[in-house]
Amino acid sequence: MKRHNFSAGPCILPKEVMLKASEAILDFDNGLSLIEISHRSKPFVDVMEKARALALELLGLEGKGYKALFLQGGASTQFLMVALNLLEKRAGYLNTGTWSDKAIQEARIYDDIYEVASSKDANFNFIPKGYDIPSDYDYFHCTSNNTIFGTQMKSFPDCDIPMVCDMSSDIFSRELDFSKFDLIYAGAQKNMGPAGTTLVVVREDILGKVSRKIPSMMDYKVHISKSSMFNTPPVFAVYTSMLTMEWLKNLGGIPAIEKENNKKAQLIYSEIDLNPLFKGYAMKEDRSKMNATFNLTNEDLKETFETMLKDEGINGLNGHRSVGGYRASMYNALPLDSVGVLVDIMSELERKA
Ligand SMILES: *Cc1c(COP(=O)(O)O)cnc(C)c1O
Repeated sequence: MKRHNFSAGPCILPKEVMLKASEAILDFDNGLSLIEISHRSKPFVDVMEKARALALELLGLEGKGYKALFLQGGASTQFLMVALNLLEKRAGYLNTGTWSDKAIQEARIYDDIYEVASSKDANFNFIPKGYDIPSDYDYFHCTSNNTIFGTQMKSFPDCDIPMVCDMSSDIFSRELDFSKFDLIYAGAQKNMGPAGTTLVVVREDILGKVSRKIPSMMDYKVHISKSSMFNTPPVFAVYTSMLTMEWLKNLGGIPAIEKENNKKAQLIYSEIDLNPLFKGYAMKEDRSKMNATFNLTNEDLKETFETMLKDEGINGLNGHRSVGGYRASMYNALPLDSVGVLVDIMSELERKA
């Protein structure tokens, strides 16, 4: 049976990427596996350099003072690494979901954090707007896409201080002026590759301004000075991420994939809005194009709906426990056809009910 993978992360990757990645496990360099050769060997150093260059190229940040790193520890390690490297006195955080909340908690270990705005009281079903960011703070932190709640920032504030953004679940999915941001981070396992590496893109001139001593592994400057090879990098995750970025570049880069992502989002949200059996979770203006969250209006249909999903090979549609209902994650590699299959089931349910 054909499977349609709506999983929120780890999640769907392009088939051709997985084929190439699996070949490299068996034979990457004249009969040797990618995972058994030295990470200091030329074939792997070339992979790392290509991955770093592709990340900047896709984001349009080449030659603009940014460096790309592939680190370990997931986006969750960035919650504390950002604070260790940038937080001297006070930082402002926009609280739009579980992940922002966790980033705030981690940063609070080091210093004072001010929540510029929060949608926590509404269980994060919208993105707060119209808040002020004090210009004497060290940095402003936001989360571009809230994977769990299905909201997404459509615009970003003008900010006099460095802007840090967790783009784990929508990196490379839409065009933005990425030079607005001073530090972007994203765990690989949503739009880029397997779990195990985190992309960090940082403007070098914001670093080196805090007075604390930073442990080497937590110090962006150390990783930059070692070309993202301070210690053994997660070679498979970096290689697979490089393949996905190549795949995206060959498709036409972010502008091309954004068109596809818009079609997918349009398809699912119009069904959610037209079909009386379903109700969207997030406020319309803040809806995410990556993760669509919705509920059944009649819980009695739950079993029927879920059996239909299973019969058609739909995988990973259950909502996160803090929201319930359903979540259709439609990352870059998910074909429009898969959304078509899901939408057909939703309208079939309406005919049956
Ligand atoms: C998944 C996710 C994280 C956590 O990533 P890990 O790599 O598991 O630490 C952080 N932020 C956002 C927005 C996410 O979607």
